[in-house]
Amino acid sequence: MLNDKKRFETEVIHSGYDSKKYEGSLAPPLFQTSTYTFDQAAQGERRFAGDEEGYIYSRLGNPTVKILEDRMTAIEQGGGALAFGSGMAAVSAVLFYLLKSGDHVVCSKGVYGCTFGLLEMMEEKFAITHEFADLSSKESMKKSILPNTACIYVETPINPTMELIDLEMVCSVASEMDIPVVVDNTFCSPYLQNPLKMGADFVLHSATKYIGGHGDVIGGLLVAKSAEVIGEIRMTTQKDIGGIMSPFDAWLLLRGLKTLAVRLDRHCDNAEKIADYLKQHSLVRNIYFPGDKDHPSYEISRKQMNRPGGLISFNINGTKEMAQAFMDELKLVKIAVSLGDAETLIQHPATMTHSVVPEETRKGMGITDTLLRLSVGLESWEDIKDDLEQAFSKIEESAPLIIESK
Ligand SMILES: *Cc1c(COP(=O)(O)O)cnc(C)c1O
Repeated sequence: MLNDKKRFETEVIHSGYDSKKYEGSLAPPLFQTSTYTFDQAAQGERRFAGDEEGYIYSRLGNPTVKILEDRMTAIEQGGGALAFGSGMAAVSAVLFYLLKSGDHVVCSKGVYGCTFGLLEMMEEKFAITHEFADLSSKESMKKSILPNTACIYVETPINPTMELIDLEMVCSVASEMDIPVVVDNTFCSPYLQNPLKMGADFVLHSATKYIGGHGDVIGGLLVAKSAEVIGEIRMTTQKDIGGIMSPFDAWLLLRGLKTLAVRLDRHCDNAEKIADYLKQHSLVRNIYFPGDKDHPSYEISRKQMNRPGGLISFNINGTKEMAQAFMDELKLVKIAVSLGDAETLIQHPATMTHSVVPEETRKGMGITDTLLRLSVGLESWEDIKDDLEQAFSKIEESAPLIIESK
């Protein structure tokens, strides 16, 4: 383990692992085991009593998973981290840890679909209420906070319109009022944004996305400012609810993390070029990209994100049928939800990721029937552009009359 702090690009490769402790193995070993043997009965007793360090059973801890947790702690600059079997297992573990019956949650206007489902379930079953609040100013934020508000839960950028929340502002109001802040940092990855540095108490990721980066694993990661709190979550909502990560998935994620910085640089380079291309196209009504100078959150993106990221949403200048026909004409770009993979992916939020959101609410969030979301991949940006271009010309040929003026 490198004890002294190194730069991000170095830490994603080295933090949390010392090959000398593992027979010189360059790659972290995969401890594919469910349990651990004790030398003697008394040793088992000491381990269970917490009088001796050491592994007991893999739901309570595993060496491969621990390397990943230590690496995440270093790169998000927290006190400790926990790995989960999915992003949603991380979301539910932190919310069940922070909340009890009768509490209230203040959320950003727009959260991941299943997080929305979880909040609804918590309201129905445990009387934990929530409000999708206007977090654009201190005043509007304070209005949404009630005496029983026990957590502020934020996503930024907000999917799919890429509106940003000023994390420094939100965290300063929350800390005045002594309310913990949880940030879902999936869209940025730790390379583009570090909420703990801006005052958040918890940061979580769907590791399925940029951290894994290869579309072959489902996982979640939670990092907290406090090591003690991570210990408490490990021994409560993680141990007892049981949403742990498998050793093999941790191994894949350690491999994914090594290239996070170089991958993200390419995702961002490609996205900037594709955004410029889409913005000038006559079949595109508008784009949502934090790196676009006309985006309402452009200033916040300059302040809190290292780069504007790899996701772009845009409205087709036409109808829902044209938007879907456009998707069907794409050859290189794949139709799929998820994001952050090497492959460029496109999805239709109104009928896919946000289909559970009632139509009125959805429209209020800017999710129209012509909106598409692109996760820009690692291919040559010219090939991505050429594919978009050929699909645009196909829909232009087949439906020239329904194109409205821009
Ligand atoms: C995908 C995603 C999740 C859920 O993660 P899973 O790994 O699919 O459980 C949570 N938040 C955001 C922003 C996501 O994109």
